[in-house]
Amino acid sequence: MDDWAPETKLVHAGVRRSQYGELSEAIFLTQGFVYDNAEQAEARFIKAGPDEFIYARYGNPTVRMFEDRMAAIEGTEDAFATASGMAAVNGALTSLVKAGDHVVAARALFGSCLYILDLLGRFGVEVTLVDGTDLAAWRGAVREGTKAVFLESVSNPTLEVIDLKSVAEIAHKVGATVIVDNVFATPVFSRAVELGADVVVYSATKHIDGGGRVLGGIICGTKDYIRKVVEPYVKHTGGAMSPFNAWVMLKGMETMGLRVRQQAATAQMVAEALSGHAGVERTIFPGLPGHAQHKIAMEQMGAGGTVIAVDIAGGQAGAFRFLNALKLVKISNNLGDAKSIVTHPATTTHQRLPAEQKAALGITPGLVRLSIGIEDAGDILADLKQALAKV
Ligand SMILES: *Cc1c(COP(=O)(O)O)cnc(C)c1O
Repeated sequence: MDDWAPETKLVHAGVRRSQYGELSEAIFLTQGFVYDNAEQAEARFIKAGPDEFIYARYGNPTVRMFEDRMAAIEGTEDAFATASGMAAVNGALTSLVKAGDHVVAARALFGSCLYILDLLGRFGVEVTLVDGTDLAAWRGAVREGTKAVFLESVSNPTLEVIDLKSVAEIAHKVGATVIVDNVFATPVFSRAVELGADVVVYSATKHIDGGGRVLGGIICGTKDYIRKVVEPYVKHTGGAMSPFNAWVMLKGMETMGLRVRQQAATAQMVAEALSGHAGVERTIFPGLPGHAQHKIAMEQMGAGGTVIAVDIAGGQAGAFRFLNALKLVKISNNLGDAKSIVTHPATTTHQRLPAEQKAALGITPGLVRLSIGIEDAGDILADLKQALAKV
C-alpha cells in the first residue's frame, strides 16, 4: 500500500472489511462494542489494539478507515478525525499547549481560527501574530521556548501563500511544532509534510466531502503526537467525528483527485479571464504570475488552488450587485464544493473583525471569494461575465 500512487490511495487506503467482504466501505453506526467477557473488557480499557474499539467518542471502524486513508494521502504516520474543521484546529493546538507557553501564528486566518488563538490567551498562553508572508517577522517572533507555530498555508479569503519550508526551518531551530491549516491547498496538492509541517489539519467539510453534506475535520501527524497528545484531548472533550460523516468523507475521497484537479484547472482559466476585466479591480489567485507568492505557490502546490478572490469595482454596492446578478454561482459560504459558490467575506465570514483588522488583511468592501465547482467551465465563466456586466 505504501508505494501506491495518491490516486490509488484515495480509493483503497485504510479499507477494513467485515466478515461479509463488502466492496464499499461499511458504516458502523454504533457507539458501543460488545466484549466476549469481563476480562476482555478490562484488557481493552488498558490497551486497545488497532482493530479494537471501546466507544465511538474514542474511535470507530468507519472513522478509523477515514483516519488511515487521510494519513496515507498526507504522508503522516497517523491521523485523528474530528467533528468539524474547527474541532481539528482546536484539538491540534489546545492539546499541545499549557499556560505560560508561547505560540506564533500568521495573522491572516479564518475568523474561527483567530477565536481559538484568543481563547488560548484567556488560559495564559502567549500568542504573537505576524504577517505570515514576512520571514523576518517570523524570525523576530519565534524564540527559545516557542511551543508551536500555526498558519494557514493559503489564507482565507485573501489567498496569501506562506513559504512553509522557510517558516518550518525557523520554527524547528527552537523545537517548535509546525501546525498547518491546509484547507486551501487541499490534500490533493499538499506537500506540507515534505516541506516541514509536523501537523497538518483540514476541515474535511470542504474538498474532502466535496458535496457540502456534512461537517468534519482531521488532524494528521506522528503516531506519538496523534495517540499521546491529540487523542486523549479530543476523546475526553467530545470532538469525535460521527461514523456516518466518516463514511461520507471516505466516499468523497474516492473522487477528490478528479474533482479538485478539474476545479483547479477551471479556476486557473477563470482567474485569467477575470484579470483585467472591466468591473474587476483586482484578481487574487496564486496561479497568476502577478500574485505576490506565485513562485512559492507553484513550488508548494503545483497549482493555484480552487478559490479565487476578486475585488469588484464599486465597493460593497458593486460586490452586492455582482452577487445578486449571478444565476448559476450560488451565494453561500462553503468552499471546495462541487457547486460554484460566491461569498462576500466582509459582511459574512469575516464580519466579526474590526474595520482596521479587515483593512490590514486586505478584506476590502468589494472583495468576493469565488469557490470554483465542477460545473462546465464555460457555463461558470459566462455566469460571472453576465453578472460583472451589471456591476
Ligand atoms: C472552513 C475552514 C475551517 C473550519 O472548518 P469547519 O469544518 O467549518 O469547522 C478552518 N480553517 C479553514 C482555512 C477553513 O476554510
